[in-house]
Amino acid sequence: MTIHDITLTITPELPVWPGDPPVRLSQPAHLERGDLCTITRLDISAHTGTHLDAPAHFIPGGATVERLDLDALIGPALVVDARGQGDLTAEVLQGLAIPPGVQRLLLRTDNSALWQRGEAPFAEDFVAIAPSGAAWLVERGVRLVGIDYLSVAPFDDPAPTHQILLRAGVIAVEGLDLRAIEPGAYQLICLPIKIGGADGAPCRAVLVD
Ligand SMILES: [Zn+2]
Repeated sequence: MTIHDITLTITPELPVWPGDPPVRLSQPAHLERGDLCTITRLDISAHTGTHLDAPAHFIPGGATVERLDLDALIGPALVVDARGQGDLTAEVLQGLAIPPGVQRLLLRTDNSALWQRGEAPFAEDFVAIAPSGAAWLVERGVRLVGIDYLSVAPFDDPAPTHQILLRAGVIAVEGLDLRAIEPGAYQLICLPIKIGGADGAPCRAVLVD
């Protein structure tokens, strides 16, 4: 059994969505300063690094993160090669030969290469799911869709794609690092921190081979 970690490491250098609070990690207590123990304080947005969006992110009255169905977050997943594509429209997704019945779909796009740049600033021209692609995923019965940059939706018009997915209860996992992952079938485990009332949360996501 091989476990592939597809989670970004949360550091202050991690790019964040423009306008979101930057990652701040501090250590109010530290052994080196003579404290009893070391304690790290996290000051981050719920949408930091590898994270998921709950329906409440865009849908009034939508489910918050602690109420998500764990069943959608653990199970068989397909990683598809969507490199060399622009925005993922219904037509583009149709052309990726995704078999029917896939419930968890992870899209490896050209975005993964952006993580190679390490501390690079936020990239606005990332590959995203177009509204028609979101509708296609809902029609196909996908329950979880993951992508390898910080949003499933295009930078200049984020609402429609999010609304279509989240209204249908499709969980959006964002900020995956799929650089080292060959397309194919895996078992996904993607569990968000259980924060009451939150519209999203950082996840530790792994693929098991
Ligand atoms: Zn998000």
